[in-house]
Amino acid sequence: MEIRNNDNVKDQISPNEIEILEFIKSFKNSNIDEFKKLTINKLFQSIKSLNNNWLISEKRFKSILKKYEYLIYPENFYYSSDIKSFIPSIDLNLPTNLYLKLNSKGKSLFTKTSIDSNSLIFQELEPLFFIPPLDHLNLMKLGKACIYCGNLLLITNDQSSLSSITQSKRKNLKKSNILNKLDCNSCQGIWCSINCKKKDILHQYLRHSTHHNNKIKSSQWLKFENFCLENNWQAGFAIGLIQSYIIFDDFPPKKKIIWDSLATVGQDIRYKAKFSNNNELKEEKTNEIWSNGFELFNSIFNQLENQFDDLSKYLQMIGTYNLNNFNGSIYSIQSNLNHSCIPNCKIEFIGNNLIEGIKLISKRDIMIDEELSINYLNNSNHLLVERQEELRIKYGFKCNCDRCKLEINPNGSIAKKVRKLSMNSDNNNIGNNNSERPDIIELTKDMKDFELNVDGIQPIRRKSVRFDT
Ligand SMILES: [Zn+2]
Ligand SMILES: [Zn+2]
Ligand SMILES: [Zn+2]
Repeated sequence: MEIRNNDNVKDQISPNEIEILEFIKSFKNSNIDEFKKLTINKLFQSIKSLNNNWLISEKRFKSILKKYEYLIYPENFYYSSDIKSFIPSIDLNLPTNLYLKLNSKGKSLFTKTSIDSNSLIFQELEPLFFIPPLDHLNLMKLGKACIYCGNLLLITNDQSSLSSITQSKRKNLKKSNILNKLDCNSCQGIWCSINCKKKDILHQYLRHSTHHNNKIKSSQWLKFENFCLENNWQAGFAIGLIQSYIIFDDFPPKKKIIWDSLATVGQDIRYKAKFSNNNELKEEKTNEIWSNGFELFNSIFNQLENQFDDLSKYLQMIGTYNLNNFNGSIYSIQSNLNHSCIPNCKIEFIGNNLIEGIKLISKRDIMIDEELSINYLNNSNHLLVERQEELRIKYGFKCNCDRCKLEINPNGSIAKKVRKLSMNSDNNNIGNNNSERPDIIELTKDMKDFELNVDGIQPIRRKSVRFDT
């Protein structure tokens, strides 16, 4: 470093980025209210006056602030501009009245025709990738839950009472499955139906060490699976399965083409939105899971072309899964639907079992060339700030839907529009208040049914798995 001829030179230091960052963070934490009011220029002056021996230009200060914005202002970190998506070069079998369009939100699904309220818009009977719940894996391997779909084979309302079920009941159940040839000859796995047995094309490759093939090492798969289980890592487990399905897909590689067209962003980038400086330990642990998971993942696949040569591609795959899965599985058409806090559509499960697929139903009349939307949130009754925070962390964007606009500016012109939309929706009659402003609670009370716990079924996982490690 060049030494300048200056009396103060021995006292002056040029702080490195980390020192500057640490100082800003501690400054922020000790003066949070004041901090929020400061402009960047004022912040620079304050930091300078508190560290009068620091040699730092305002330009450098600003560039550091920009680079580490997510650490200093985690609440302002959005990653929607990092998300990439493509229109797939393969037919998704969209209903003829729907079309896909790329716009500022990425891919969006539109309708060419008007749609009446409460109509069936499409069904997806077969997910692109069905992923069973990782927390049933041990039961699956012991023949207590279907080895393909993870549904419990013992009918009980209370999972915790599983162990108290009598031996004879178990034996009877096993017997009936064996009679129906739904048990595996080579492992303890049992399928819940012929359908599951047929769909379980990976079973022998992943679970039977005796099965020789040149693509997958089942011994490594079992290690990988246990690793995911130990770390409660659904996304890691899912992409192991997804990569395996891709490898065994027919030609042309339809699954891969669709998968590659999904909205994608590195999990490391998503992670920045969730964890700020206070979680360095968590971050270290996560990095360790990622790198160990990456190594194990690659060890499953015999052929180099099925492995990833760098960690970032692997993290991209995890990010893709987390952004796109619906209740754990990936659907080719559903994954194109964008979010609204006042959506015009809702997703329902077709049967009582997750593998029976999903359908999209209109919530109100929809006009020609209107975008179809669903609610991504676990709880749509949350307040504006809570919704915006959840969407920022899990999906990286700032929601600008009509409901959010209305709640930000309750007297704006959008208020009338939202009121009109909600009047159109089925038996939701508002507007009797003396106030000009629609009652948001009233207006959104029918949104409860967007939660994953829809009537009549017991989804295996209740919480969102969108923000897995
Ligand atoms: Zn099953
Ligand atoms: Zn088996
Ligand atoms: Zn919104």
